[in-house]
Amino acid sequence: MQIYHFTCKHCGYELKLPLGSSDLDQVLTDVNADYADYHLFRCDKESKFVYADIYSKDFEGKCIADGNDLREIDQEEPPVKCPRCTQDLVMETRTPFADDDDDDSS
Ligand SMILES: [Zn+2]
Ligand SMILES: [Zn+2]
Repeated sequence: MQIYHFTCKHCGYELKLPLGSSDLDQVLTDVNADYADYHLFRCDKESKFVYADIYSKDFEGKCIADGNDLREIDQEEPPVKCPRCTQDLVMETRTPFADDDDDDSS
C-alpha cells in the first residue's frame, strides 16, 4: 500500500489517500476485513477522485455519495490532470511506513 498525495496548485484541490492492498501491515485498523485493496476512481458527476475497497461487499462500482458510475483509474498510469479544473496535478507517493525517513541522503 502506498499513500498518494495529489495537489493542484491551480485550484487548490488536494487529496491524500491510501491505495493498494493492505495484506501486509494492517494500516486500516477500523476495517475488520481480512483483505482490502483500495483503488482509485473518478466520479464524473462531482469531478473528483474517490477511492474504494474493491473487495468490500458494499462496493458496486458506484459513487457512494451520488450513485454515479465510477471510472477506475489505472494505478500504473495515475492521473496527472486535476479532476476539477483539468490543470496539471502534482503527485507524490510514499509508503505509510517511511514517514520518519524523508531524506534520501541519510
Ligand atoms: Zn485544479
Ligand atoms: Zn460522486
